[in-house]
Amino acid sequence: MGLSMTPRLYGCVEAGGTKFIVGVVNHQGEVLDRTRIETRGPDETLGAATGWLMDARSRLGEFSALGVASFGPLALNRDAPDWGYITSTPKPGWSHTDFGGRLARSLGIPVGFDTDVNGAALAEARWGAGRGQRICTYLTIGTGIGGGTVANGSPLQGLGHPEMGHVRPPRHPDDLDFAGVCPFHDDCYEGLASGPAIQARWGARLSELTADHPAHGIIAWYLGHLTLSLQAMLTPGRIILGGGVMETPGLIHEVRRVARQLGGGYFRGSPEEVIVPPELGDRLGLLAGLALAMDADACPTPPGRPG
Ligand code: ZN
Repeated sequence: MGLSMTPRLYGCVEAGGTKFIVGVVNHQGEVLDRTRIETRGPDETLGAATGWLMDARSRLGEFSALGVASFGPLALNRDAPDWGYITSTPKPGWSHTDFGGRLARSLGIPVGFDTDVNGAALAEARWGAGRGQRICTYLTIGTGIGGGTVANGSPLQGLGHPEMGHVRPPRHPDDLDFAGVCPFHDDCYEGLASGPAIQARWGARLSELTADHPAHGIIAWYLGHLTLSLQAMLTPGRIILGGGVMETPGLIHEVRRVARQLGGGYFRGSPEEVIVPPELGDRLGLLAGLALAMDADACPTPPGRPG
């Protein structure tokens, strides 16, 4: 991946709502060591992650930087006092938790900190399904729906990070009675098409429902609308669909079919070209951390660095 002759090591954290994957990855993307930590309270979880990283660097060598790809929502403005915080989350105990700054102070190295989906978009744009694209969007459809976009090499951040799963779609005509499961908006995309929304309606995972079950068409219809909206607003060369729900056999083909039907041939790029699965497999989370760490390493004034 890199051209440097000096081996550089990076600490990488994939921070999820149920588990943290913490690892050491070199500049060529090789995972040298990794561990899994159950997500409990912030002190316990971040303490365990920091302890593992300190032990790992004493065994393997100093890290050039740390990259954290985290569940959100996150405060990402590097000039603000709450940079690196998890903000208001329904996850018990985690609201207003100092995360990025705490790790930067504990380890004394630059920290790249972003959402899991911005990190995944960056890694796929650099090394995976989004290679060579000026704009690339990564969407996860799983326990929630979230998305990140990389434009010209950098993840989009503004006042915060994008919240693509929290837009309200038109309702599918055969799905008008379901209230939706999003605690903030009820029937946004996350409220209608995430794993918990599928469970709430049909009592099973999408992959467990028979191929002729109407759920497949309804979920594909929502996701087709979402990809079309992204094409209209951001013109990504690739929309990469990941997450557990997308492991349902045939779903991506159905999403493309809906996008073709609803798009009317208006947008550049065929659904087969634009709507694609991720390429980085089970390394995606750590490589998301690696991409963020490498960018932090290049950052001349990393926040939280002592002195
Ligand atoms: Zn919502």
